[in-house]
Amino acid sequence: MLSVENLRSRYGRIEVLHGVDLQVRSGEIVTVVGANGAGKTTLLRCISGVQPISGGNLVFKGEPLQGMPAHRRVALGLAQSPEGRQIFTSLSVEENLRLGAYLFADARVDTDMAEAFAMFPILREKRNLAAGGLSGGQQQMLAISRALMARPACLLLDEPSMGLAPILVAQIMDVIRNLKTLGVTVLLVEQNAYAALRIADRGYVMETGRVTMQGTAEELIADERIRAAYLGV
Ligand code: ATP
Repeated sequence: MLSVENLRSRYGRIEVLHGVDLQVRSGEIVTVVGANGAGKTTLLRCISGVQPISGGNLVFKGEPLQGMPAHRRVALGLAQSPEGRQIFTSLSVEENLRLGAYLFADARVDTDMAEAFAMFPILREKRNLAAGGLSGGQQQMLAISRALMARPACLLLDEPSMGLAPILVAQIMDVIRNLKTLGVTVLLVEQNAYAALRIADRGYVMETGRVTMQGTAEELIADERIRAAYLGV
């Protein structure tokens, strides 16, 4: 579904992605784990089209993404839930969700919103309140739901566990795992490697702008180097 080949990207004169290769097949949950600054966010931003690339290829559903503006990538089925959530704090929960559905003006928007509320009932309770008043975990739920309102074939998630208490991390990860049953393919970037690998099919490890390991989630969880460096065991 998504193919990243020899991807390079830079901020000014400083290259931060040095030729990244990664594949996401339809129906998979693929995670990219790695320390702060490894380039995970930059990778997602290149895929969604908000960060320019300086080399390599990006192909989504058989279409090259180079030169395609971000909004067209959304229309093609790529949606991103960005790091730090970036919800519209002064708008209501419902308004945030409707913005996620800006491509559509059909009756399914209401059905999609009902699905979001079924997934996260707290959002229904707070639908008319300003999103800025939500807790961190609730804002994360809103950010994921807003991205889903774009009806993506592939959802790009940047650090959904960031800043959340362990119980909320578990809840968010359960929801991400369940996206499979909705037919949504997921590329999940996480510093919380254990939480991400537990729900993923496959994973990639990034270090300073390169993929240094890849494998099935079970292989990576069992790998001594991963256990020592990222799982704290
Ligand atoms: P984090 O989990 O902190 O987001 P990351 O793995 O996602 O880490 P990136 O945010 O992609 O890493 O950062 C990769 C490198 O690019 C880092 O060295 C970072 O300092 C640098 N960088 C990120 N954003 C910018 C920017 N706007 N300008 C210059 N350098 C940047």
